[in-house]
Amino acid sequence: MADASVGIAAAERFRAFLRERRLPVTQQRLAIADVLLGAPAHLSAEDVAAVLAKQGQNVGLATVYRTLDLLVSSGLAEERDFGEGFKRFEPKRDLPNHYHLTCTICGTVIEFFDDRIPDIIRRTAAARGFVPSRHRLLVHGTCRACRRTPSVLDRRTL
Ligand SMILES: [Zn+2]
Ligand SMILES: [Zn+2]
Repeated sequence: MADASVGIAAAERFRAFLRERRLPVTQQRLAIADVLLGAPAHLSAEDVAAVLAKQGQNVGLATVYRTLDLLVSSGLAEERDFGEGFKRFEPKRDLPNHYHLTCTICGTVIEFFDDRIPDIIRRTAAARGFVPSRHRLLVHGTCRACRRTPSVLDRRTL
């Protein structure tokens, strides 16, 4: 379960960030931050706009994009590219590097952690005199739910 106090602390940090940059602390910006930082999900700008619309707040997509970029600059959120042609965003958490499995049919994203991966990267890089600064791992495929539904898409997989 999400810890509400973490969300509040993050919202406070976002306000402080906006003030430091002399950017207006608008209700819309705070609402966008609230949606993104409130749930550890991988939301696109359109997802965020849809959540706000459900809450009865109509916020233009351009405002959502700009605010999501500000959340990334503030260090409160991270941008992800799952090769879908648009970006997704997730709150930055105090977790070790995590990895993603993404379903190419329904877009579900599953997170996982495994200490062996950074270890392999460190050793592989060191053996080649390479100093890694960051890495990411994204696995494309089909999730369990989509695999239960036979479709023509299944024939594309090996
Ligand atoms: Zn799926
Ligand atoms: Zn993630």
